[in-house]
Amino acid sequence: MLTTNPFDDDKLREECGIFGVSGASGAAALTALGLHALQHRGQEAAGITSFDGTLFHTHRAMGHVAGNFDRDDVIRGLPGEVACGHVRYSTTGETALRNVQPLYADLSTGGFAIAHNGNISNAMKLRRELVRRGSIFQSTSDTETIIHLVATSNYRTLLDRFIDALKQVEGAYSLIVMTPEGMIACRDPLGIRPLVMGRLDGAVIFASETVALDVCGATFERAVEPGELVIVQGTEIRSIHPFQAVDARPCIFEWVYFSRPDSIAGDQSVYSVRKEIGAQLALEAPVDADLVIPVPDSGVPAAIGYAQASGIPFELGIIRSHYVGRTFIQPGDKVRHLGVKLKHNANRALIQGKKVVLIDDSIVRGTTSLKIVQMMREAGAAEVHMRIASPPTRHSCFYGVDTPERAKLLAAKLDLGGMTDFIHADSLSFVSIEGLYKALNAARGDKPSYCDACFTGDYPTTLTDHDESATVDQFAMLAERVA
Ligand code: SF4
Repeated sequence: MLTTNPFDDDKLREECGIFGVSGASGAAALTALGLHALQHRGQEAAGITSFDGTLFHTHRAMGHVAGNFDRDDVIRGLPGEVACGHVRYSTTGETALRNVQPLYADLSTGGFAIAHNGNISNAMKLRRELVRRGSIFQSTSDTETIIHLVATSNYRTLLDRFIDALKQVEGAYSLIVMTPEGMIACRDPLGIRPLVMGRLDGAVIFASETVALDVCGATFERAVEPGELVIVQGTEIRSIHPFQAVDARPCIFEWVYFSRPDSIAGDQSVYSVRKEIGAQLALEAPVDADLVIPVPDSGVPAAIGYAQASGIPFELGIIRSHYVGRTFIQPGDKVRHLGVKLKHNANRALIQGKKVVLIDDSIVRGTTSLKIVQMMREAGAAEVHMRIASPPTRHSCFYGVDTPERAKLLAAKLDLGGMTDFIHADSLSFVSIEGLYKALNAARGDKPSYCDACFTGDYPTTLTDHDESATVDQFAMLAERVA
């Protein structure tokens, strides 16, 4: 089965996108619109929960936002002026409806719905303890741990219980919570995963990326700060910082690949940063070539930056068909191999006899890079050079990103020469970690201002449930066993 974009099959995958709105009529319809704009952050399942002032209503389904939430009957079943939603690609927990968010529970304090982007890196340890004390889990999701910690907290008010719960969890979390009293949006103290806040008339909106605000016609107000809880109750908005302050470490991969290029992250245009990474790459790894060719679509901004800095013409050497459906079931191996060409084909007339430099954002397993280089050679390229707009991905992510186990990461197995041979390129280079920081107007130094652990192995939190050899899949299986 091919996914939407076969070239995306060999990428790190962001796990989730979240969206919340408080104080707008038709909140669920607005949430569906916001989730559409965040679809790239999770394509496996989607859910929306609304609150009508008395009751919570939920619709959760496998598949894309379109098809599940473009139906009047579904949106009519989600009344109220407060709603939150979630798009998902699983990191922990099996692929099943019971893990699709928002998760909901009736607590002694009232209804509690939660949408989470990130991953709790001590969820298994906490879960074992909660189960021992009598908690009965309904899902295998790490997010449910937060619900049980709130439910079993000794504090009286919901807000105090929630803070108590968050003080026990490690890892990455951007959360939107709905209770009968209002909405709470928060980010973990390191701000690993993004969350922004906007306004639409009188309504307050939270979203993983600014592009979701744009699509709704909302105005970007600010990012939710690392370690901040924004509490919305009617027209009143409060902000508290209940955690010990630490230096923030947002995920640097948001600028490399995860966020849409038309989003603003950390006050910087994602598109501009990607172009700047390409320019850095041209400085660090020049090549004598006739054409700069982006690997569509995610390599495009870096390729423009590389072309502008190097003076080598930018050309579309790989043409993407926009008429191939989301999935395509191939009947056999031969056709499966050809499936890549159905979606992307080399622009043979352009490439024939040329020395080309291909620009991509990252290499994970290397399997797709190999196919692309082959595609260029079959189209008659004289030389094929590959330039990558991120450092080598050598370590797994435990913060809400789908990463293959470390043994499958090409850069963890092979040195540069080995990787070049593996993808059959004439040359291969990656932007340096210093070059990546430079593109973000930062310097890495001793105290890095971003999480860059998948490149450096410098994890910003303890990883209680894992050692580095553990895989996300193994974690999911262990979670299953605990369940
Ligand atoms: S390890 Fe850090 S930088 Fe890499 S994807 Fe995960 S959160 Fe992002």
